[in-house]
Amino acid sequence: MHLPTNGLLILPFIFGLIIGSFLNVLIYRLPRDISIIKPGSHCPKCKTQIPFYRNIPLFSYIFQLGKCIVCKENISIRYPLVELVTGCIWLFAFTNYPMSNAIIFASFVSTLVAISFIDAEFMIIPISLLFVGLLVLILNYFINEVSVLKSLYGALFGFAYLGSMILITRLIFKKQTMGYGDLLLIIILGAWVGQVDIFVTILLSAIIGLLVWTIFGVVNGFQRELALPFAPFLSVSAVIVRVFNIDIMNFI
Ligand SMILES: [Zn+2]
Repeated sequence: MHLPTNGLLILPFIFGLIIGSFLNVLIYRLPRDISIIKPGSHCPKCKTQIPFYRNIPLFSYIFQLGKCIVCKENISIRYPLVELVTGCIWLFAFTNYPMSNAIIFASFVSTLVAISFIDAEFMIIPISLLFVGLLVLILNYFINEVSVLKSLYGALFGFAYLGSMILITRLIFKKQTMGYGDLLLIIILGAWVGQVDIFVTILLSAIIGLLVWTIFGVVNGFQRELALPFAPFLSVSAVIVRVFNIDIMNFI
């Protein structure tokens, strides 16, 4: 614990909720090529502007029972979900890491949240968000003691592992299983976790992907052509490996 275990912990959580609210703007607007500054928040259906006092992360959704106050259109559950998840990420970071590490961790994982939700819906990864992730990592070299070499190897090995996996599955299944966006994502994930952990990350993401594919198949019927967005699996796996410091040497 690096912060006193009292009410102060509400601060990183609230800050995370606000960041989550901004992530929602990115998730909605980046793939649709809409400016992220103008116009202000509005209901996607009736276009009514949402004043700041009705734009409180998490709480507005709860008080309005998940509906637009003007046209009663249902608001996507994604909004409160992204806010809550991001709030928890910032709370987790500040209760487990020293301040400078916590800021980097929470900023990087928040970027992954935006990337994952966009990929899940649109099957694309905006290059601008990959750059944000890269910038956070570069900042990390300046404010925390991290090995640049380990990051470079991580990026390189990640690219090589996933690149070969894409090539092999393409040869076997005669179709593209992952996109180039995933290859770019793995570069920053590799730089974040290092060359050994990126291998575990890819392995874990394949297992999670297979699991989700099976659950989807059981619920909706199996489709051979079903394409799954891979960024959420890669991101979740990288965070798990990073948080639990999973050491592959324990399994060999
Ligand atoms: Zn509305």
